[in-house]
Amino acid sequence: MPPGVMHYAKLRAGWGYNRVEMPELPEVETTRRDLEREVAGHRIAGASVWQTRMLGGQAPDTISARLAGRIVRNVERRGKFLFLCLDSDDALMIHRGMTGNLLLAAPREPALPHLHLTLELDDGRELRLHDPRGFGEIRMLSATEVADRWSRLGPEPLGPDFTVEYLAGQFGRRTALVKALLLNQAIVAGLGNIYVDEALWAARLHPTRRANTLVPAEVVNLHNAIVRLLTAAIELRGVTFNDHRDLYGEPGSYAPHLQVFHRAHELCPRTGCGEAIRLIRAAGRGSSICPACQPAPAGVETECQIG
Ligand SMILES: [Zn+2]
Repeated sequence: MPPGVMHYAKLRAGWGYNRVEMPELPEVETTRRDLEREVAGHRIAGASVWQTRMLGGQAPDTISARLAGRIVRNVERRGKFLFLCLDSDDALMIHRGMTGNLLLAAPREPALPHLHLTLELDDGRELRLHDPRGFGEIRMLSATEVADRWSRLGPEPLGPDFTVEYLAGQFGRRTALVKALLLNQAIVAGLGNIYVDEALWAARLHPTRRANTLVPAEVVNLHNAIVRLLTAAIELRGVTFNDHRDLYGEPGSYAPHLQVFHRAHELCPRTGCGEAIRLIRAAGRGSSICPACQPAPAGVETECQIG
């Protein structure tokens, strides 16, 4: 490798040039539906938890003891968090971080590397959390702690509380960048870089627009785009470039339907546009935009083109 290439590769990785996807709402919801189908109603015969920073200071033995012998009553999702709700009223909370996957394994199937958690089910199958980068979270929570976690998150974008009026109300009193607000889990839960960039392109909004400058029609378009894109992505079981897998180890199939994300230098797919997609910096994140469909607000100097 020539000198400097490694450094350049790291720099590019920092701005999202490498094709890393992090699980967002559609990917986590895919896992939740799989878990509800496969794991709900089953008793946890035993649990193994390895000491890791993902535990946030909780002791592996304590987590294992609160899991062993319990029945998984149901599986919930809030934003990007999964909750295995137990018959003890405790819940096992899992955040998949950047590269975490929950996989269902047949009895005695050899484990993959980077195993952080194993739940042995009453029929011999195992639920395993693999996470090479280890940026996810595992917590054992009481019902009160679950309620506290949920209260810190904004409404579910596919739920009844995420209305045009709600979004307009949040935007109307804030001068933050529209992209930053959409990534803020306390404003709306579950969105990340992929679906925010896609929704902004669909609504023809530049990511550095100040939230309170959006006119009502723009808020309506953005709201509709968020709901439509998330629904379609769940239908196709999420985006996989490298990491995301469902409970059965299968990739999602929504990636080919992405219009701008990871498509820098390709032509904007909007009919009659023909402009090249660019990767810029906005709200501290690599942001894929079409400069023709998403005009930059006048006088904004917060962006720089990085691709
Ligand atoms: Zn365009």
